[in-house]
Amino acid sequence: MDRDILHPEFRATPYWWDDVAPDESAREELPSRADVLIVGGGLTGLNCAIELGRGGAHAVVIDGEAMGFGASTRNGGGVSGGNSIGKGLSGAKGRSGGSADELVAAMIADGTESLTHVESVIAREGIQCHYARTGRFIGAFTPKHYAGMAAKAEQLNRLAEADAHMVPRERQREEIASDYYFGGMVINRTGKIHPALYHHGLMQAARRHGATLVSHARAGAITRKAAGWSVETSRGTVEAGEVVIATNGYTGRLTPDLQRRVVPIASHIIATEPLPPDLAASLIPKARTLADSRRVLCYFRISPDGTRVLFGGRARFTQVTPQVSAPLLHAMMLQRWPQLRGTRVTHAWTGNVAFAFDYLPHMGRTEKGLHYALACNGSGVAILSYLGAEIGKKILGQANRVPSFDGRDFPTMPFYAGNPWFLPAIGGWYRFRDWLDRSLA
Ligand SMILES: Cc1cc2nc3c(=O)[nH]c(=O)nc-3n(C[C@H](O)[C@H](O)[C@H](O)COP(=O)(O)OP(=O)(O)OC[C@H]3O[C@@H](n4cnc5c(N)ncnc54)[C@H](O)[C@@H]3O)c2cc1C
Repeated sequence: MDRDILHPEFRATPYWWDDVAPDESAREELPSRADVLIVGGGLTGLNCAIELGRGGAHAVVIDGEAMGFGASTRNGGGVSGGNSIGKGLSGAKGRSGGSADELVAAMIADGTESLTHVESVIAREGIQCHYARTGRFIGAFTPKHYAGMAAKAEQLNRLAEADAHMVPRERQREEIASDYYFGGMVINRTGKIHPALYHHGLMQAARRHGATLVSHARAGAITRKAAGWSVETSRGTVEAGEVVIATNGYTGRLTPDLQRRVVPIASHIIATEPLPPDLAASLIPKARTLADSRRVLCYFRISPDGTRVLFGGRARFTQVTPQVSAPLLHAMMLQRWPQLRGTRVTHAWTGNVAFAFDYLPHMGRTEKGLHYALACNGSGVAILSYLGAEIGKKILGQANRVPSFDGRDFPTMPFYAGNPWFLPAIGGWYRFRDWLDRSLA
């Protein structure tokens, strides 16, 4: 790694973990029975457990690693409200044969509901996680992207009351201290959090609602019984009435039929050292989260204490060491903010997201009968929190409506069993297309 960009106190762990790290010591006893066993201790699993507990069911949440090992404590903390849902839906049909437009509308409505869900859980459970509804600015990478965004803003306002508006290039500096983009779109109805504190607060809430959280218990085999399921784990066997799979980008051979439907893709982030206060305050004047319209997108923000830049992106589509990802992300950050030249990196980390072949989130039951909510497509803080809770309601028989993502066809590809060998080639192709689009702009 370029030693000049590394702070002497550099750590290859998430910046968020400086405040609260996944608890290695939390190894509660594994109960032998549960009403519902949830595999995966991220925010999908915890939101499900909270809802089940509120309805009087005993949930046991297990994670093969420490609770919070997965993406839920590693993400950028952008809380979207369905703005990235709906792409790739042309030609799709609604559940009862309705039009693609109706389906997109239903999905965007669920996206809207997901933001409401996160906000109400945070308020109801008193979770201190620096939540703020600051809005997001999405920078247009080319003039053509800017034109496309205008239609999207109109759609989001019509279907989701997203309070979105376009910002032309000449007013862009109201949003970002940079001329890198060709204008962009602001979506006011989005927020930001400190993800590790959100996850920590969810753990506390789940326990308050009666759930048992067991770390370092890796599920190994799930067997159907006359009434319910038997789940073997590395710490013993649990008999459960229902089983929920909440493993997203870490979905493995435990559920081969789900593994072949999701593509794990790495996302990488760096945190800078604290900046001079005037510089830090100038970078994003309205303190929004930022993203851009590239195929290989970047997302960035200022830390909750207002001192550092957190800059993320798919520097590579596969897991690579910070030695590889940090210099790439640092260079991308300087393209947008040359004024940060000389700023060093204190943290660099990585985690897995999960993409579906139709770019949509999915909730439902496998043929075998396991419940699942998977496929965040890069942005799952809100939607997977919501779908996790919806599974809980569904199991309790308390759902008053069926989310549009429930029970939809969950596609796979011939010869794909879960090993995304094609990602380096796709990543290279997307980067080339981005470069070409920008060169022609
Ligand atoms: C770097 C990065 C940045 C991101 N930024 C954003 C963002 O700004 N906004 C946004 O909305 N989304 C973002 N995301 C996506 C978001 O973090 C995820 O969608 C979300 O956290 C998924 O939560 P989850 O609970 O489904 O899965 P995870 O939190 O990934 O948890 C899955 C868990 O399952 C466990 N597991 C797997 N197999 C087993 C087994 N056999 N037995 C027991 N446990 C098992 C794993 O150990 C893991 O802890 C980002 C993700 C990453 C990696």
